[in-house]
Amino acid sequence: MALRMTMLDVIMGQVAVRNPGEPEFLQAVREVFSSVVPVVEANPVYRRMKILERLVEPERVLIFRVPWVDDLGNVQVNRGYRVEMGGVTGPFQGGLRFHPSVNLSIMKFLAFEQLFRNSLTCLPLGGAKGGADFDPKGKSDMEVMRFCQSFMSELYRHLGPSLDVVTSGLGVSGREIGYLFGMYRKLSGQFSGAITNKGLGWGGSMLRPEATGLGIIYFVEEMLKRQGQTWEGKVLTISGSGNVAQFAAQKAIAMGAKVVTMSDSSGMIYDPQGINSEKLAWIMELKNKRRGRIAEYARHFEGVEYQEGRSPWHIPCQIAIPAATQNEIFLEDARQLIANGVQLVAEAADMPCMPEAVAEFQRAGVVFGPSKAVNAGGVVTSGLEMSQNATHANWSREEIEQRLRKIMAYIHAACVHYGRQADGTINYVHGANVAGFVKVADAMVDQGVV
Ligand code: NDP
Repeated sequence: MALRMTMLDVIMGQVAVRNPGEPEFLQAVREVFSSVVPVVEANPVYRRMKILERLVEPERVLIFRVPWVDDLGNVQVNRGYRVEMGGVTGPFQGGLRFHPSVNLSIMKFLAFEQLFRNSLTCLPLGGAKGGADFDPKGKSDMEVMRFCQSFMSELYRHLGPSLDVVTSGLGVSGREIGYLFGMYRKLSGQFSGAITNKGLGWGGSMLRPEATGLGIIYFVEEMLKRQGQTWEGKVLTISGSGNVAQFAAQKAIAMGAKVVTMSDSSGMIYDPQGINSEKLAWIMELKNKRRGRIAEYARHFEGVEYQEGRSPWHIPCQIAIPAATQNEIFLEDARQLIANGVQLVAEAADMPCMPEAVAEFQRAGVVFGPSKAVNAGGVVTSGLEMSQNATHANWSREEIEQRLRKIMAYIHAACVHYGRQADGTINYVHGANVAGFVKVADAMVDQGVV
C-alpha cells in the first residue's frame, strides 16, 4: 500500500537535502513547521507564494575569517557568522553567540527561531543570529578585545539601525558588547542603535542585563494566572548560572518562589533550603566577577549538595526552567520531572528541550512554554533600546519594565489565542509558532516575491 506523503514530510525532505549536516537547523524547522503546515494547507495564498520554501532560505549568510593575536603573540583564527533569516517584519535583529560549539547549523537554527520570536513581540523586528566559535572563557580582557575588534572589522559593514541590529547572547555580555560597539563606532563613524545591550552611560537600556530573566518570570506569571495560581511558594529548579539563569532566579525569588538548583557546564548544586537573595548575590559575584565554578557554592554554604556532571532534572519541583543551553532536557529527564510532580516547564534557554521531551510534557498535561515566547524579554528590551536610540529618549527603569511586562502579557495572549485546544487547554508551542508565523507570512505576501 502506497503511503501518502504529508506536506510536512515533503517540505522536510527538501530542507534535509538542501541543508546536509545541519541537525539543529532541521530540528528547529520541523518544530515550527509541525505547527504551521495546517495553517499553510488551509491558506492557498501561502502555498502559491511558497512561504515555507522561502522561509527556510536565509536572506543572507555571512561566514568570515576572524584572525587575532593572543597575549603570547600567537596568531589565532576563528570563524565568524551572521545569518540574516528574514527582514519583512523589520530590520534584522538578533544576538551574537561566542562559544566553541558555534557552527552554521546552530547559527541557522537560532536565526530561524529568532525570526518568529521577534515577530511575536509586536515590535518591528526581523530575525537574525550571529557569532563565532570563539571561547571567551579563560581569555584575558585584552584577548577578548582584540577578538571582538577583528570580528567587528568585517561585520560592521552589514550592520545599521535600519539594516541589521546585533545584541548580546551566550558568551557575549557587557564586556564583549562594549568592545564590539567601540569598533563599530570607529569604523562606521556612527553612534547608533545598531548594537543593543549597550552600557548604561552610552545609550543602553536601564533594564539591561536583567531583561530576559525578568521577561521569563513575567511570562510564567501569565501562565500561572491562567491556572488561577501565582509564583508564591512555588519550588523552582533552574539550570545554568549565566545571565538568564541569574536574573530569572532573582525575579522568581522576589515573586515568592523557592529556587533550589542552579548549574554550570561542570555540574549542579541542590540547595534544599532555597537560594535566597543573599546567596544569589554570592553566585552573581562568583560567576560575573571571579568567573568561578558553581561547585564553590556547595563548599561555601551549608547543607548544599554538588553533583558533578549532572543537570537538575531529577530534583523534585513544581516549576522547571532550563536556562543553560540547547538540548539539555532529554526524554528521560522529562519522565523524571513528571514522576516528581512538575506542573510547568518554561524554556528560558533557546530550545533546551528535546522534541521527545516536549511531547512527553504535553502528553502528561504539564503546562509547557517554548523558548521563543518565554525568553522574548531580551529581544523586547533590545527593540525598546532601538526606539530609545532612534528618538534619543531616556526612559526610566520603571517605564521600560512596565512596557516589558505589558509586551510579555501580549505575547502570552497571542499564544493563548492561537494555541487553544478543543478541551480548553493551551498548546503554547503551537500558539507561539502560529502567532509568529502568520505575521511573517502575511508580510511576505504583502511585499511580494523578493
Ligand atoms: P551565559 O553564557 O551567561 O550562561 C550560560 C550558562 O549555561 C552558564 O552557566 C554555562 O556554564 C551553562 N552552560 C553552557 N553550556 C552548557 C552545557 N553544555 N551544559 C550545561 N551547562 C551549560 O548565557 P546566557 O545566560 O546569556 O544564555 C543562556 C541561554 O539563554 C542560551 O541558550 C541563550 O541562547 C539563551 N538566551 C539568552 C538571552 C540573553 O539575553 N542572554 C536571550 C534569549 C535567549 P559555564 O559557566 O560552565 O559556561
